Amino acid sequence: MTSVPTIALNSGHHIPQLGFGVFQIPPAEAEEAVTAALEVGYRHIDTAAIYGNEQGVGSAIAQSGIPREELFVTTKLWNESQAGEAPHDAIRESLEKLGLEYVDLYLTHWPTPEKDTYSNAWEKLIEIRDAGLSRSIGVSNHLPEHLDRLVKDTGVVPAVDQIELHPAHQQNDVLAWAAEHGMHIESWGPLGQGKYPLFEAPAVAKAAASHEVSPAQVVLRWHLQRGIIVFPKSSHRERMAENFDVFGFELTAEELTRIDALDPGDGSGRVGGHPLEVN
Ligand code: NAD
Repeated sequence: MTSVPTIALNSGHHIPQLGFGVFQIPPAEAEEAVTAALEVGYRHIDTAAIYGNEQGVGSAIAQSGIPREELFVTTKLWNESQAGEAPHDAIRESLEKLGLEYVDLYLTHWPTPEKDTYSNAWEKLIEIRDAGLSRSIGVSNHLPEHLDRLVKDTGVVPAVDQIELHPAHQQNDVLAWAAEHGMHIESWGPLGQGKYPLFEAPAVAKAAASHEVSPAQVVLRWHLQRGIIVFPKSSHRERMAENFDVFGFELTAEELTRIDALDPGDGSGRVGGHPLEVN
């Protein structure tokens, strides 16, 4: 079976660099999708309280018989649960739905800066980690200004920041912050959520033809070769398998540079919400 490289997080724990994301997989279909993904070989699952499918993820895990220590499960604290002691209730609810005693990674989902509760949420995540309910803790959709604030308030650097990242939206300022502070980057929407013609871009299509792989495989390879953690979503087993089969070829430095050039550089390549506007 394919061996997925792992990355050491600042907690000392290791995360498989390639996983399976379950955003927008309806609750009733999550068990089947995650079962298929585990059969394909994925051992890293990315879910969130707001996806409403933690129970299905948990059922698939329970029925798989795969030892807990071989799995890496991430879930996320929803925006409405950042204030006061609410994060403690939220993680217990997520663990109950997942049927797990701990998650491997717990993230605050958005900074929601207007509410100004993300720093409180981060303090509670530190307590949750210390209580053994999550092995590692991190954030999602945080910009450098939010990350600076968390470090100033608590001295604790998130293990990861999970951000929208794909060739048209590369967020190099967040990557620079991560490199400086020993934080890792996870890409969400790694294939651009299919919302712009990424696979037809000559830089992607040419590399796909030359390596005799699919454009999706080229884009995933681009993330992996940049040291980024990635978990594409698909409900189709063939695509799950295709997205998992990305360790048999390597993009050249020139191919990577041509894909790098797909970012317009003005933020217009974003396909999801802006971290300053999601509140
Ligand atoms: P993605 O870029 O992975 O796109 C998924 C879509 O790409 C699929 O619905 C399918 O239409 C298409 N696709 C998948 N594999 C393909 C293939 N081999 N060939 C052609 N098309 C293919 O987008 P995503 O699901 O939004 O992101 C991945 C994961 O990131 C999510 O499932 C979720 O776990 C996470 N996520 C996190 C946030 C956040 O705010 N933290 C937001 C969105 C997603």
